[in-house]
Amino acid sequence: MTHSFFDEGALVAVLTTQPLDRALDYKAPEGGCHLGAFVEVPLGPRKVLGVVWGPGKGDYDYAKIRSVIRVLDAAPMRLEMRDFLQKAAAYTLTPMPAMLRLATRAPGLGDPPSMRKIYRRGFGVPDRMTDARRRVLDFLADYGDLSFTLKELAELSGVTPSVVKGLVTKGAVAEEDSPRDLPFPPMDPNLPGKALTADQADAAGKIAAAVASGAYGTTLLRGVTGSGKTEVYLEAVAAALRAGRQALVLLPEIALTAEFLKRVEIRFGARPAEWHSGATMTERRRIWRMVGQGNAQLVIGARSALFLPYQNLGLIVVDEEHDTSYKQEDGVLYNARDMAVLRASLLGAQVVLASATPSLESWANAESGKYTRLDLEARFGPAVMPTMKTIDMRNEKLPSDRWVSDTLKRAVDARLDAGEQAMLFLNRRGYAPITLCRACGHQVGCDQCDARMVEHRFLKRLMCHQCGETKPMPDKCPSCDAEGRMAAVGPGVERLGEEAVKLFPDARVAVLSSDMYGSARALKAEIEGIAAGGADVIIGTQLVAKGHNFPNLTLVGVIDADLGLQGSDLRAAERTFQLMRQVAGRAGRAEKHGTALLQTYQPDHPVIRAILAGDEEGFWRAEAAEREQAGVPPYGRMAGIILSGPDVGQVFEVANVLARNTAALARVGAQVYGPAPAPIARIRGRHRVRLLVKAGKGVALQGAIAQWIGQVRLKGDLRLAVDIDPQSFY
Ligand code: ADP
Ligand code: ZN
Repeated sequence: MTHSFFDEGALVAVLTTQPLDRALDYKAPEGGCHLGAFVEVPLGPRKVLGVVWGPGKGDYDYAKIRSVIRVLDAAPMRLEMRDFLQKAAAYTLTPMPAMLRLATRAPGLGDPPSMRKIYRRGFGVPDRMTDARRRVLDFLADYGDLSFTLKELAELSGVTPSVVKGLVTKGAVAEEDSPRDLPFPPMDPNLPGKALTADQADAAGKIAAAVASGAYGTTLLRGVTGSGKTEVYLEAVAAALRAGRQALVLLPEIALTAEFLKRVEIRFGARPAEWHSGATMTERRRIWRMVGQGNAQLVIGARSALFLPYQNLGLIVVDEEHDTSYKQEDGVLYNARDMAVLRASLLGAQVVLASATPSLESWANAESGKYTRLDLEARFGPAVMPTMKTIDMRNEKLPSDRWVSDTLKRAVDARLDAGEQAMLFLNRRGYAPITLCRACGHQVGCDQCDARMVEHRFLKRLMCHQCGETKPMPDKCPSCDAEGRMAAVGPGVERLGEEAVKLFPDARVAVLSSDMYGSARALKAEIEGIAAGGADVIIGTQLVAKGHNFPNLTLVGVIDADLGLQGSDLRAAERTFQLMRQVAGRAGRAEKHGTALLQTYQPDHPVIRAILAGDEEGFWRAEAAEREQAGVPPYGRMAGIILSGPDVGQVFEVANVLARNTAALARVGAQVYGPAPAPIARIRGRHRVRLLVKAGKGVALQGAIAQWIGQVRLKGDLRLAVDIDPQSFY
């Protein structure tokens, strides 16, 4: 039997968030501690956060072992969570301290809860009654024992705060200190949802039954944008809440909009906990604690919300499950979608993966029966998928500094005349991707990376999209010193915006690009304003494809449908297909019928044809067959190894040692490709060399890789990162 409580002085092993390769022994503090307790321990001269991970190893002189400083005021980590972190660490080959950091991303966890003043009904009677005073007292009488902040109470009873304060001095209103980390208001799953269509009701019923069963299962919920997937999974959330379990809805950060939160609030009668990068430190800590105590029933959040210490999680929804932002690309390299499935399987919880354009992985898992697949066929209500057509750019004869064809221009004009919105989509930030000297042909590159500098006219600078380095636009060529010969080549959204202003002089043109706004919040606010009619022509990058509803948008023009098809990435076709379908799905979401026009030089490319035909199953089957043939994911396994360091020779040396000594991999039939310079061979001054490991589907790759990379010692500034199931190949 494992100990679940350690008496004072007993040896405990504490896993800390510090980069050490084992848990350290400490003595349990006065009063003892529970297994899983969050504690503060001394480490050298510092105090660090840790979790009591088990009995101490006892391989160290007892007399020299130090004591746990204190047990933090937080529910101990549950066994299920430890299990999850361990399995996630084993899967992603991440050291446990880094996993624990992910699970404790709430600043001030160790602080005692801070206090604030709250106000409730008191026993005193005011000497003098005024109208304002009466309003406050009547209000409090109506609400019985509820308490409010000063601001709330004053606003709700329509008085100034000084009126409330006056009542406090008479004892008619009680002022008390209360912890700032308040529970979240309860959600009411039994408020009426929308009346569901037969299709929706069927899907909702099946998922709700699965949730009620208390067993693990994953459902792929597929349906075009606007088909009502959100309505359906909110019913699943209701089922989890009814069963007394918590629910988590994961969204790409940019899709976590005020509009969405409002919708959830209306459905359940209270605001859920929101976990995202814009949340304040206090709010993060509150959510972390309340989730752990079961006082936050529903969390809506970005990917890291998966690592909160849920007390009784019954459902995880991953909306837009194909979205690449679920893959964390630095630090711990994990895919939140896959980790959601792992966590649910350990918990006996259900997962709903919702998407209009699922990833091939999820599609294949549904095909093979690992996931249940539910399809919502029609769009809800009158809207239908937009008409999709290509514009064959070979016939358009555009001058080299223009990007909007005459055909597209006429289509936009027609929408503007009708008082509707049009969108021009280009997945390229900035003004121009290349800055070139017309005298010598030199292209301005980043000093730190092997990447071109992209002109951002809005910021009046050149920027590297790899490392974020910027420099002023040069007046003369850095290579040949010729003056006034620097030219912008190719389009970015800013430049497209300029063209649109010229082409549509009477229209209000808005450019939406992530780098043009200080924060995600500001960007979302801007998008909401535009959706409400704040612009006639919307120019945007990938982010406009996510989640936002533009009711008056009836035309989408894709400036360069070929853009994504040029990469060497194994998911290039899949991504293009998804992105084009999503972008097209923006058009005509409300009552008006929409059209999507795709400018392309390859109208006969199979991906373009599948997009036009709306033939999703056909596309997936063809793509699946190709990947199966090549033995690549999801029909084979892959891992990327990136070695990086300041000295390219040293980096290659280590990479070559790995490439020559592959016995550990050969034992499981895995092959190694490389080393080769990574597609981006230098980032922030560090040279990057890449090895690719490929193996059959059923292979236990992680163990073999761990053994294999264990052969090399990384000296100095050399780093090695393992990317299991790589999503992007840079
Ligand atoms: P999806 O998540 O598939 O994009 P939504 O669930 O957001 O689709 O539904 C699209 C729109 O249709 C939303 O405004 C939603 O409120 C509305 N809607 C969906 N289903 C219903 C329904 N059964 N009754 C009324 N409105 C609905
Ligand atoms: Zn750079």
